[in-house]
Amino acid sequence: MENYRAQIPRSAHLLIIVFLSLLLPLCESNQILIKGGTVVNAHHREVADVYIEDGIIAAVQKNIMVGDGVKIIDATGKYVMPGGIDPHTHLAMEFMGTETIDDFFSGQAAALAGGTTMHIDFVIPVNGSLSAGYEAYVKKAERSAMDYGFHMAITKWDETVSREMEVMVKENGINSFKFFMAYKGSLMISDELLLEGFKKCKSLGALAMVHAENGDAVFEGQKRMIELGITGPEGHALSRPPVLEGEATSRAIRLAGFVNTPLYVVHVMSIDAMGEIAKARKSGQKVIGETVVSALVLNDSVLWDSDFQTAAKYVMSPPIRAPGHGKALQGALSTGVLQLVGTDHCTFNSTQKAMGIDDFRKIPNGVNGINIFQSASGQLSVTDFVRVTSTECARIFNIYPRKGAILVGSDADIIILNPNSSFEITANTHHYRTDTNVYEGRGGKGKVEVTIAGGRIVWEKDELNAVPGSGKYVKMAPFNYMFEGLERADAEYLSSLRAPVTRRAMHTT
Ligand SMILES: [Zn+2]
Repeated sequence: MENYRAQIPRSAHLLIIVFLSLLLPLCESNQILIKGGTVVNAHHREVADVYIEDGIIAAVQKNIMVGDGVKIIDATGKYVMPGGIDPHTHLAMEFMGTETIDDFFSGQAAALAGGTTMHIDFVIPVNGSLSAGYEAYVKKAERSAMDYGFHMAITKWDETVSREMEVMVKENGINSFKFFMAYKGSLMISDELLLEGFKKCKSLGALAMVHAENGDAVFEGQKRMIELGITGPEGHALSRPPVLEGEATSRAIRLAGFVNTPLYVVHVMSIDAMGEIAKARKSGQKVIGETVVSALVLNDSVLWDSDFQTAAKYVMSPPIRAPGHGKALQGALSTGVLQLVGTDHCTFNSTQKAMGIDDFRKIPNGVNGINIFQSASGQLSVTDFVRVTSTECARIFNIYPRKGAILVGSDADIIILNPNSSFEITANTHHYRTDTNVYEGRGGKGKVEVTIAGGRIVWEKDELNAVPGSGKYVKMAPFNYMFEGLERADAEYLSSLRAPVTRRAMHTT
C-alpha cells in the first residue's frame, strides 16, 4: 500500500480524492425508492412505489425493482404526497421599525420539518424601487435550504415602477404583484394606483394580489380605540373589524372586474371577505381566495388575554376573527369557494412584540406558521389537503406539474405522512428563532415523518438535515390559466359599448 501510494504523484492523488468525493454522494443519496405508500395527488390516490433519481421523480408505479445502492424507504400504510407550497411568507422582512426574526434559512428549516418544501416570499421594494428590493431579497435568500419563489409588493407608482414591473416579469421570473389597501402612511396605495397596477399586471400576464382592508377606516378605528383608552392588543381587533376587510375585498374585486384582470386575495380572514369572493366567483369572475392557517384554527379571544405577551403574539393583519369565522372558512376551503392555504409566516419575538406594550398600533404584525400545514387539514379529505396545500398553488403560480404533484418528471419534493402517528406543536421544538408559537400545545393525527426536498432527505426520524445554499430560486412564468379567455371578454366589452356613435355634423344657418 505504501508503495502503491508512493507511485502516484501527489497532485494526481488529490484529483482522485476530489473525483471520489464528487461521485460518492451521487451513488449514495441521489436514488431513493419509496415503497408501498399511498401516493396522493390532488385528484387521485393509489398504492404505488415512487422512484427518485437526481432530484426528479423518475417512476411512479407498483413494484419497482432497483439494484444496490438505492436508499429504500418503506411507506406502507402512509401517505406519499407532494410537499407543501406556502404561497405567503415574510422571511427577513423589514417592517414596523424592526425585522422578522426568521431569515430564509431558519424559516425554511422549520418549514421542511413540517413538510413544506417550497414557499413564495414577498419582496418589499426599497424606497419604492423594485430592482433594489429584488437585489436585497436575492441576497437574503442566499442561504436557502429549499426552493423558493418571489412575489413583489408595489408601494408607489411612477414610470420607473411600471417599467421595472416589466423587468421583474420578463427577466426575473416574478409573476405576481401585491398591493396593500391597508397600512396607511407606509405600504398603503390609493385606488388610483390600484387601477394603474391592475392594468399593468393585465398587460404583463401577472397576477394582481391584494391585502384587502380599508386602510383609511382602520386608521379611524385605531383613533377611536385610543380615544376610548383601549391601548392593549384587543384594540387591534376592535379597530379593524371584518366589515373593513369585506369592504376592501369587494372594492378590489369590482375594480379588478372593471379592468378585467384576474385577482388573488391574500389571507382571507373573515366570512365578510369570503362572501365577496364566493359571489364574484359565482358570477364567473376570475378571483382566487387564499386563507391562512391562523384564520382556520384560531379565534380572537386570545387578544383579550390579561397577559400582554400572550395576547400580543396573536396580533396580525387582518386580525384573527371571532369564533365562527374559522369554521366557515374551513367549509369554504373544502367546497372550493377558497382555493388554497398559506401561513403568512411573519415572526417577531417577545421583545419585538413588546414595542407595542403601551400602544397596540406599535405591536409588529405577524404570526408564525410556516411549518404547520397539517393543522389546516380540518375536515378535508386527503386529496383535498394536497390540493389546497400544494397543487392549487403550483397551478396559480404556473409551476405545475414541476411542483405540486407526484408525477414522472416532477421535482422530487415529497413528504411521507403517517396518518396514525401524532404531532404536537411547541416552541421548544419548532426550529424557528422565535420564543413563542401561536399554535403552542396544538397537535393531532397525521405526522410528517419524512421530507424530501429536491431529491434529498432533509427530515427523517425527527432529525433535520437542512443544508444552507441547497435551495433553488424558481422562476415563474406569466399568463397562468386564469388569463385564458380575457381577450374574448375584452372584445365583448368593446362591442357592447355601441360607441363612439357617428353623428352628423351640426348644420348652422
Ligand atoms: Zn402577509
